[in-house]
Amino acid sequence: MGTGNEAGSGRFLNTNSREFARSTKMCLQSGAGRRRLLRSRSNLAIESATIMAHIVTSKCVGCKFTDCVEVCPVACFYELDNQLVIHPEDCIDCTACVAECPVEAIYAEADVPGEFQANIEFNATEGRRIKDSGQEAIVKKKDPLPTAEARKTELGY
Ligand code: SF4
Ligand code: SF4
Repeated sequence: MGTGNEAGSGRFLNTNSREFARSTKMCLQSGAGRRRLLRSRSNLAIESATIMAHIVTSKCVGCKFTDCVEVCPVACFYELDNQLVIHPEDCIDCTACVAECPVEAIYAEADVPGEFQANIEFNATEGRRIKDSGQEAIVKKKDPLPTAEARKTELGY
């Protein structure tokens, strides 16, 4: 209980993810810490071969509440005009962001519902494109879009 590594579950560090996010953020403050983390990630990937990105689905479109970005330990959220996306290689699958989203827009890749499958490729393409363009990741919460409350109601939240 609470080991944070659930072998065979399709992801790792499912438990206590907020605590993990905080400790990982501290770890990343040093280069040595980041190298250790990457080595650790690499070892876990070999053990489970299941690390995958999380996906922001189109439920985010028109909301952009941005609650999700402040818990991400590796700053892998990027901003479009009307939604966020997650960079597919930078996400370490910690799950910390999932519970933060008021409209439950974020899923582990393996759990993305059928209606949002196209969003997987969209996140990958846009996440890489935006990062490669030199735009910084979004790490601070900002005001949601003016349409956010209406969109939230429309989505049933
Ligand atoms: S919290 Fe949800 S709606 Fe807000 S930006 Fe993140 S994914 Fe989008
Ligand atoms: S985007 Fe990935 S690394 Fe960032 S909080 Fe979500 S699951 Fe964790």
